[in-house]
Amino acid sequence: PQALSVTGLRKVYGNGFEALKGISFEVHQGDFFALLGPNGAGKSTTLGIVSSLVNKTSGEVKIFGFDLDKEQAVAKRSLGVVPQEFNFNMFEKVGDIVRTQAGYYGIEPKVAKERAEYYLRKLGLWDKRDERARMLSGGMKRRLMIARALVHEPKLLILDEPTAGVDIELRRSMWSFLQEINAAGTTIILTTHYLEEAESLCRNIAIIDHGQIVQNTSIKALLQQL
Ligand code: ADP
Repeated sequence: PQALSVTGLRKVYGNGFEALKGISFEVHQGDFFALLGPNGAGKSTTLGIVSSLVNKTSGEVKIFGFDLDKEQAVAKRSLGVVPQEFNFNMFEKVGDIVRTQAGYYGIEPKVAKERAEYYLRKLGLWDKRDERARMLSGGMKRRLMIARALVHEPKLLILDEPTAGVDIELRRSMWSFLQEINAAGTTIILTTHYLEEAESLCRNIAIIDHGQIVQNTSIKALLQQL
């Protein structure tokens, strides 16, 4: 099965605004995929639906073949999500945030501890494990979000504008980290409004505008058209 398959996805918000007008796209296993589009195009709405944070109006979402409506528990297990907003408890310690998350997935405490250490080290946050989350810089909070999303070792990682507001140096190190985990087998989907970011990282791309997919191709083919 595809890592993600979205078919005829529509979203009408409570105020009547149609943010997604029946979009369809697929992301194959192992891919590094970008959903590119200007602000307001519908990127966050799409990822919000895939990660069960936003209700869809209609359409179908399958994660590794599991229907998000009918088989939500299984579908969600293979998914790691990094939303744009920091949504951890700012008063909790960095190490505890990552370990607690592992607990939600039923990972036994010993393994949870090891995994938390591994990902905190990977993301340059191990020295901060005993700090409260609110003490971290913006870039560190972003990396904490990523560590937390990886602790159950999801097969599919989705990130909503992971480098928004991140300085160039940190952006580069986040890029190489994401490439590393993709090379190790994790399928990655990110949203961005920078073509450069998609170009540097991704193999395939869907361009979304006004709630519709206007292009869906490989980065290579897209660049040849420009
Ligand atoms: P992007 O992530 O591409 O910037 P979004 O998915 O956040 O786009 O938003 C798509 C459109 O839906 C925008 O026009 C936005 O203003 C609108 N929108 C987002 N959330 C809501 C909401 N809760 N109610 C009404 N409109 C919304």
